[in-house]
Amino acid sequence: MSIIVQKFGGSSVADAESIKRVAKRIVETRKRGDDVVVVVSAMGDTTDELLDLAHAVVPALPAEGRELDMLLTAGERISMALLAMAIKSQGADAVSFTGSQAGMLTDDKHGAARIVSVTPGRVRQALDQGQIAIVQGFAGFNKVTGDITTLGRGGSDTSAVALAAALDADVCEIYTDVDGVFTADPRVVPKARKIGRITSEEMLELAAGGAKVLHNRSVEYARRHGVTLHVRSSFTSDDGTIVYDPERAGSTMEEPMIVGVAHDLSEAKVTVVGVPDVPGTAARIFTIVAEAGANVDMIVQNVSEAATGRTDISFTLPKQEAGSVLQALDSHKADVGFASLQHDDQIGKLALVGAGMRTNAGVSARLFKALADAGINIEMISTSEIRISVVTRADQLVDAVRVVHSAFELDGDQDAVVHGGTGR
Ligand code: ADP
Ligand code: ASP
Ligand code: MG
Repeated sequence: MSIIVQKFGGSSVADAESIKRVAKRIVETRKRGDDVVVVVSAMGDTTDELLDLAHAVVPALPAEGRELDMLLTAGERISMALLAMAIKSQGADAVSFTGSQAGMLTDDKHGAARIVSVTPGRVRQALDQGQIAIVQGFAGFNKVTGDITTLGRGGSDTSAVALAAALDADVCEIYTDVDGVFTADPRVVPKARKIGRITSEEMLELAAGGAKVLHNRSVEYARRHGVTLHVRSSFTSDDGTIVYDPERAGSTMEEPMIVGVAHDLSEAKVTVVGVPDVPGTAARIFTIVAEAGANVDMIVQNVSEAATGRTDISFTLPKQEAGSVLQALDSHKADVGFASLQHDDQIGKLALVGAGMRTNAGVSARLFKALADAGINIEMISTSEIRISVVTRADQLVDAVRVVHSAFELDGDQDAVVHGGTGR
């Protein structure tokens, strides 16, 4: 008998009817003879609603903390219990476990905890007794502090992958509100096409670029532990997208040049103006930024003007981290010696991804020309071996994604179906 891990996202369990529908699907899988472990997210937009509530109580609430994790994990606590009840009422046996009961041990970083080990003894026991195990997604437990943690927004995907790895499951199925991984977000590009198979390397770049269909850490974890992911819709029985590691799979298939376009509106840009252009300044600035706990994404340093010996350094980071970084930098203004700080939260990021970039010249020229033809100005550029990212004005980002998608001939013949969810 093999073990299958199935993860259901918020839009798949948005209301009572959806929970019953998902329960039916899980019972059918169990009846086919496999052991089933289910990881579930909070219902619909519950997590966002709980966050809104917290901000209504404390407007200047820090972005993460112990109480916030206590609050947010309540969302998954509700859906896991309801799902177990629904399955039992349909004649199969099920039992739900919190993250800590399922042995999801993490470090103590509230709001962005990393998994340190998974000891799913109780989950195994339940399977041995013929039960379906339902596990609270997103939630972990730190042994030292004895506190509940969360893995970061979208982290239920990572809970599922970690369990699949610990249980040596055959496959980890990620059920969501679209039919798989597409060449772009189907909510933004209706002509986006479903991708049948994608390498974990490319999926990682898409996820890091903002394609929230998979939590980027889940892709990283799956790659490291050799877990095959199947992203599919909980609303149909069609096959979705397989995320695989070509080295492990021994694949010799030639990859498409460009696999997709991701976009992200969650970042802000900070510019440190008039920085002395001497060795050590960048190190000093980014030490301050790191000490403020920020995750910097793109960095651009302009050439200094010879006459002044000063330059500007710009970087992007998650919007909610900008406040504390600006404050930290400002308090070191005199000793770093910069002139001023600028903050811009009206930026958008587009990432073009494809392993074929390694061997194809002219990809950037084609990207920049598509944007130029559409009158879209590029504010920052960064590249990796298989990705080119650009920053645009936020209100031009959707246009940018569409024109780039067309320019690389990614458009399909039919409109993609979005089955549920609000896109929040
Ligand atoms: P879940 O609640 O199931 O975890 P998410 O909202 O986290 O679902 O992720 C699914 C959403 O990801 C889709 O509804 C879609 O709008 C968005 N998305 C962004 N980029 C892509 C992409 N390249 N392929 C598929 N979906 C994408
Ligand atoms: N409910 C959490 C969130 O909305 C975790 C998840 O859905 O993966 O971020
Ligand atoms: Mg998700």
